Amino acid sequence: MSSQKNIAILGATGSIGCSTLDVVRSIEGFRVFGISGHGNVQRLEEQAKEFKPEIVVASCPDASGSFNVNGIDLRVGAEPLVELATHPEVDIVVAAIVGSAGLESTIEAAKAGKTIALANKETLVVAGSHVTSLAAESKATILPVDSEHSAIFQALQSGRANEVSRIILTASGGPFREFTAEQLKCVTVEQALHHPTWEMGRKITIDSATMMNKALEVIEARWLFDLPAEQIEVVVHPQSIIHSMVEFVDGSVLAQMSPPDMKLPIQYALTFPERITGNSPRMDLKKKLSLDLIPPDFDRFPALKLGFEVAKIGGTAGAVLNAANEAAVNAFLNKEISFNDIVTACREILNNHNFDSNPNLDSLMQQDRWARKEISKWIAC
Ligand code: NDP
Ligand code: MG
Repeated sequence: MSSQKNIAILGATGSIGCSTLDVVRSIEGFRVFGISGHGNVQRLEEQAKEFKPEIVVASCPDASGSFNVNGIDLRVGAEPLVELATHPEVDIVVAAIVGSAGLESTIEAAKAGKTIALANKETLVVAGSHVTSLAAESKATILPVDSEHSAIFQALQSGRANEVSRIILTASGGPFREFTAEQLKCVTVEQALHHPTWEMGRKITIDSATMMNKALEVIEARWLFDLPAEQIEVVVHPQSIIHSMVEFVDGSVLAQMSPPDMKLPIQYALTFPERITGNSPRMDLKKKLSLDLIPPDFDRFPALKLGFEVAKIGGTAGAVLNAANEAAVNAFLNKEISFNDIVTACREILNNHNFDSNPNLDSLMQQDRWARKEISKWIAC
């Protein structure tokens, strides 16, 4: 690569953030200009000692713990996070904060015309219409990090937009792919936190178990690729080797394959449009490999229905579904509700909300707060 690019990693202390730093260690041409975490000051200190960034942010106003790195101050709170995301010296913003907490910094990076390597799918679920139009206005580029969307983006390079007939998102099916409806009633937090193929943060791991993650990814794809829900499909692929596929109008289906490891989609977003060697694992074709593609079961995993419905109607529905899900996942992790309650509560709150087909950002935020309150009431009942 010709010149060094400055990257800001928002959510550097998380799973995607740490994988991004692994990628940066293994390739040339990137300088870690800034990192943010929320509360994990100890990890920020370790990362700052190794990468010597200009800016280190702990976005939680109450973040505490000793940060002692020669020549670097720890900036605390939400404002420095936005300053980092929009800093004139930053070329690429890696948006790897979990949940709608990542919305403001991603929006500001989009307004500032940055190249955004987007892992934080919730941003598009909540405000896909706004974020994509802001990015278009300011000539910001959004490059997907989510492995399915990266696969689709890669496959799309071989055809024109008007030649796409549908995109097919693969889903591992999570740890409960073969559970009966009866077994799903008794799922514990410990079982749900054990994903068969991916190691990820706690929230997305629970989302994968309910298949809400795939629902959110359908909505993410709707905005990222500007395709209606009718042109998006989901297929269960337990081996997680095919990361997604694009079918073109002539019936040709292009799939992107690689072992399940986030380093490859992260690296592709950083180096696009170039491909470089890196240190992502390779497929071992000396061992027998079966690739299953199985239609999803919408009855056992009703979250999927929610994803398609929300992708179809847009408006305030994404903000409500996302906030209800974030609050319900927290409640499940705190053992306040059962596994099945997560999606049941999301469905009820989505049905009861005051739908607006063309909301502004403020009303999306209001709906987000409303949905979280509704989950608290739902739990209290
Ligand atoms: P983690 O939980 O591992 O990390 C989350 C990061 O966000 C941490 O750096 C955390 O800081 C920070 N954070 C948490 N709350 C806030 C907040 N209120 N404000 C600012 N920062 C906050 O999550 P993942 O890395 O697994 O996921 C990150 C995003 O990437 C999610 O949107 C997820 O859906 C998406 N994604 C993840 C994949 C994966 O393999 N993990 C795959 C595809 C997409 P701290 O730890 O310091 O508190
Ligand atoms: Mg994914």
